[in-house]
Amino acid sequence: MKLLCTDKNQSVTADPGDPAIRQTVCPYCRTSDWTDLGNCCELAELGSPDTPEVIREIAEASRDSKLAQCDRCGLLFRCPQPSRDDLRRLYRNLPATIWRYDSSSMGSWMTAKKHLLSQHPGSQPVSVLDVGAFDGGFLKCLPDTWRKYAVEPSPLGQEELRKSKIRWIADSAEDVVLDSEPDGFDVVTLFDVFEHLPDPAETLRVLADLVKPAGRLMVSTCNARHWSWRMMRGQHWYLHSVQHVCFANPAFFRSWGQQHGMKVESHFSHAHQIAGSTARLKHSLEVVHAWATQNGKYYLSRLIQSLPGMGHMAHKQGVVFANTLQDHQLVVFRRLESSTP
Ligand SMILES: [Zn+2]
Repeated sequence: MKLLCTDKNQSVTADPGDPAIRQTVCPYCRTSDWTDLGNCCELAELGSPDTPEVIREIAEASRDSKLAQCDRCGLLFRCPQPSRDDLRRLYRNLPATIWRYDSSSMGSWMTAKKHLLSQHPGSQPVSVLDVGAFDGGFLKCLPDTWRKYAVEPSPLGQEELRKSKIRWIADSAEDVVLDSEPDGFDVVTLFDVFEHLPDPAETLRVLADLVKPAGRLMVSTCNARHWSWRMMRGQHWYLHSVQHVCFANPAFFRSWGQQHGMKVESHFSHAHQIAGSTARLKHSLEVVHAWATQNGKYYLSRLIQSLPGMGHMAHKQGVVFANTLQDHQLVVFRRLESSTP
């Protein structure tokens, strides 16, 4: 018997031979020592009648998953989480959907664009590779003179890319061949992908390899240190999909950068969706209300319900999709001139 899970109130021992327990090692550093942060929220895949059967079956296996935090590297992860094979099956069976984003409302894209333009103000062309680019929405925000490349597995996304001046080069980052940019890319970006990674160590290593010396790797994902994460833990809206399995805080990325010759040049907090102060205040109150209700602080719940425009919370059930809060982070790594990631 091995001690697997501890928190302030309990210690749990489990048989490491149990197949369910074998899935519960940290997906980054593989330790089995983690802290239990509570049950994860209901999965959207289980609540929708349109979910394909194969995806429903995979989500069903994660119905009672917990949010865990690795005691060694600090990564938060779904526990247990779908195996790598199950995730592959899940993505193969996703309904073909064309994602249309209003680029001006995308917090990650706008923050990254502003930073890149400030770092490359001249007319010198810059080579940028977006991993998980879909139809190239982010790349289209950048100057026409820059050399733009996309990694995208979806046939629908590739079809859209062919209509643009963006060059599709591979299905996955592992398959990229550095022919056009033999020294690597000036910039490699990864938006809203990190949380899907079954093996974040391997993917980050591959991405760092694609960056030229002194180039930049930009990763945008949730920030598990944001106050809404610390209040909601497993009930945070970002856990609503079984596709989301890894959640990082700034310290995790700083530590990874130090170990791989990738210095954190800048760190930005941003919202998933850019919105005005009224929408942000409403989402903040909704999160506090959900926390108060879950923790029996009914006086606080009633107080929030009594505020103008908040009466609907009296009947609110399920996850609060507070996607206008600054609960995301953009980490900009600069590859050291002499480093080998
Ligand atoms: Zn770990």
